[in-house]
Amino acid sequence: SILRKILGEKAGLLTSNIQNFSHPLMPREFDWNLTQSLWTKNHLGLFTEEEKELIIPFQQRFFNLQNIYQNLPKSVVHNDLNDYNILVSKELIDPEVTGFIDFGDAVYTQTINDVAIVIAYAVMEAANPLEAALDILKGYTTHYRPTPEELQCLYILVAMRWITTVTKAAIRKKDKSNNPYHSISEQNAWDALKKWATVNEEFAFYNFRLACGMPVHPNNEDFKSWTEQKDFSFSDLFPTTSFEDVELLDLKVSSPWIGSRSEFNDLDLFEFKINKLQKKHPNKIIAGGYLEPRPLYTASSYDREGNEGPESRSVHLGVDFWLPAGTPIHSLFDAEVYAAVNDDGFKEYGGLVILKHEKEGLVFYSLYGHLSIDSVKKFQKGDRVKKGERIGELGAPHENGNWSPHLHFQLMLSILGFTDDFPGVCCPSEMELWKGLCPDPNLLFKNKNLKTNYDTSANEIEDTRKNVLGKGLSLSYHQPLHIVRGDGVYLMDPFGRKYLDTVNNVAHVGHEHPQVVAAAKNQISVLNTNTRYLHPEIINYAKALRKKLPDELSVLHFLNSGSEANELALRMAKTVTGEKDIVALEVGYHGNTSSVIDISSYKFDGKGGKGKPEHTHILPLPDPFRGKHEGDKSGTDYAAYLVEILQNLKKDNRKPAAFIGEAILSCGGQILPPPNYFEKVYELIRGEGGLCIADEVQTGFGRVGEHFWAFELHGVVPDIVTMGKPAGNGHPLAIVACTKEVAEQFNNGMEFFNTFGGNPVSCAIGRAVLDVVEDENLQQNALEIGEFLLLNFNVLRDKYPIIGDVRGKGLFLGIEFVDSNMNPLPEQADYFVNRMKDYKILMSTDGPDHNVIKIKPPMVFSKENAEELLHRMELVLGEDFMKLSQH
Ligand code: PMP
Repeated sequence: SILRKILGEKAGLLTSNIQNFSHPLMPREFDWNLTQSLWTKNHLGLFTEEEKELIIPFQQRFFNLQNIYQNLPKSVVHNDLNDYNILVSKELIDPEVTGFIDFGDAVYTQTINDVAIVIAYAVMEAANPLEAALDILKGYTTHYRPTPEELQCLYILVAMRWITTVTKAAIRKKDKSNNPYHSISEQNAWDALKKWATVNEEFAFYNFRLACGMPVHPNNEDFKSWTEQKDFSFSDLFPTTSFEDVELLDLKVSSPWIGSRSEFNDLDLFEFKINKLQKKHPNKIIAGGYLEPRPLYTASSYDREGNEGPESRSVHLGVDFWLPAGTPIHSLFDAEVYAAVNDDGFKEYGGLVILKHEKEGLVFYSLYGHLSIDSVKKFQKGDRVKKGERIGELGAPHENGNWSPHLHFQLMLSILGFTDDFPGVCCPSEMELWKGLCPDPNLLFKNKNLKTNYDTSANEIEDTRKNVLGKGLSLSYHQPLHIVRGDGVYLMDPFGRKYLDTVNNVAHVGHEHPQVVAAAKNQISVLNTNTRYLHPEIINYAKALRKKLPDELSVLHFLNSGSEANELALRMAKTVTGEKDIVALEVGYHGNTSSVIDISSYKFDGKGGKGKPEHTHILPLPDPFRGKHEGDKSGTDYAAYLVEILQNLKKDNRKPAAFIGEAILSCGGQILPPPNYFEKVYELIRGEGGLCIADEVQTGFGRVGEHFWAFELHGVVPDIVTMGKPAGNGHPLAIVACTKEVAEQFNNGMEFFNTFGGNPVSCAIGRAVLDVVEDENLQQNALEIGEFLLLNFNVLRDKYPIIGDVRGKGLFLGIEFVDSNMNPLPEQADYFVNRMKDYKILMSTDGPDHNVIKIKPPMVFSKENAEELLHRMELVLGEDFMKLSQH
């Protein structure tokens, strides 16, 4: 989208720079001059009936537009800015359009033809060609600002270029000329024409106006001024009611009132809540919704494929008034019935009336949705309705998809060719456009509480963060995301854009899992306090967790974060052994407190780090792909470095207190150490009296599929296991499990107390997480989906050389980007995750060289989610930018 805008900008610059250029040869007869494109009508015989049906209406329309078109401004234009004539630099970040070549088709003609041709080529393969055209136009208009008349012809001109292309190709085919270059765009042109034909011409025109900075509709200002002189009360619309004020109903994406998806899909509960709200505000009309992005529209009919991945219609275009079924609705103005329809058969939307009004030279429409089915039967299209006359009454839930009764009231400045329906919600990307076409119904009522209901803007949040939060806290992505709702594998922004989350191993059983949410709500409404009283929840959770651990690890301590858990583990090891030295893995990360930073080489060897402290000893990263030793047999070689460390300690009369490591190194770049490595390391450490700590903060709770804990992949049993992140599905909950011996020796008289650790709410949540993993078979899911992904990542690796290695277990996977000399490619990895974000898939990079794509989604990640991920990955991996940037 950005590159299309840049292309538009450069094309506009060219158009404007050659405005005054003239040459005696320029006004010439030429098949590719759009002005003459009606010549194509003479060759209709070359096409099938179906093809003709597609082409003829455009030709006809172009013919009818001639009176406007012939008078448009003229100049010399390039006339052939197709893909082969545009030079683009190969940078991944901020690429530039560096030049245009081949002026052989330049001609003196209508100036607007030039951008029509740029658009025709640049949008050909886009899922949404109109939206792609707008990118071009937004750039173009910064140097050459088309007039409304020029824009009025643009939609047809784009089509005429494609028609010229397919006609030329058909003629050549007939002449049996075999030059493939001559037909190079033919198929794409047909495909684009088909899509273009589904776009309403007037709708395209309004979009073009907006892209060029004009009001969407020519009547926008007039309509507003007209409403300023009018005053309507709610009782004009609903004469049997006497509400004068509004209680704004909050249905926006972040609304806590609607709760989670399972709550808002419970329509009985919804109605119950509406009724309660009405009781609380007996003198107010419950209403709202204009331009409100809502998470409510979850049926697939609201989804479509956009230029940047899937998108959904989420933004409401009218106002909803929540009133009892049977409430009569009356017309605010004289009108003609434009449509009166019901979906008797489906009973999802009830009855719908659209009225057409003509007021002081203004034409506009009003729409009334969710009426009773019977009430619309009396109307015929064309019937007259007087101001104040009854239009119908509100439908009951049984005829309106079980929704609590409400009127959807919407205004429209244009009907856009719709005959018996009109969109009531739009995609967030088109919000400005629809705002221009569907004015705020509150322009009529002027009620100060009937406001549009948005979230704080992302920019405002970002700016405030800079002032109030520590500077060391970074945000993901070049353009940070504003996230306000979670639902299973998805995160949602305030506009209802859904992002498939492959990053979040904290939301282990899915964002806002209903069972976990219920456990939290239920317990917090009864009691939350510390662990110094007898309460069953801590015991229930402890018992459930112990069932998942090897018998040896029988004692539990509850805390609030992974850092705290590792902190306690180190304290235990030091107390039990009386030693201070800790052995850890290169690029390991174990948390943010002082002592765990001291054993986290990811931190002390990274930016701002002060290097390895005296009592820390680091083993080289056991990376069998790109490390010091390669292959599956390298386990013993890597473990041998420990022998040297232990010998050096011995020389100083020191011994290791502990070894700490993750069974798959997460921050290290999803590295699965080779077989026998851990077995050998544990043996050597224990030989010197040290303890072995497994950090399962990222990898635990069934994530690796084959086992519940990642250390089990290596056939070892640690003395201490630390857990965090997924334990509470986002609620701060961490645990240290240890052997009875360790627990007893740690208990040296100094009390261990943690204010929040083990509180009933945390434990109830922890237990719900374990239950869901069990009930929904999520460990098995991790195994199956993980294998499916690995298999297909390997297919991608064979196809795209940038992928050097794919690895991991279950839903804890990594993809490493390298060049042909095995050098890391961090820029490409960064570009890749940012592009994937454009396609609404969240991914992250990690590893010492930041060149590993890390995949650890919620465990409810399904086969369909995996397929979606693979499909989009292939799109980005196949981009020319990815290929070119490696050279
Ligand atoms: N250990 C590992 C392996 C981790 O990845 C993390 C967090 N990224 C921690 C410990 C620290 O956990 P927390 O941020 O909850 O303190």
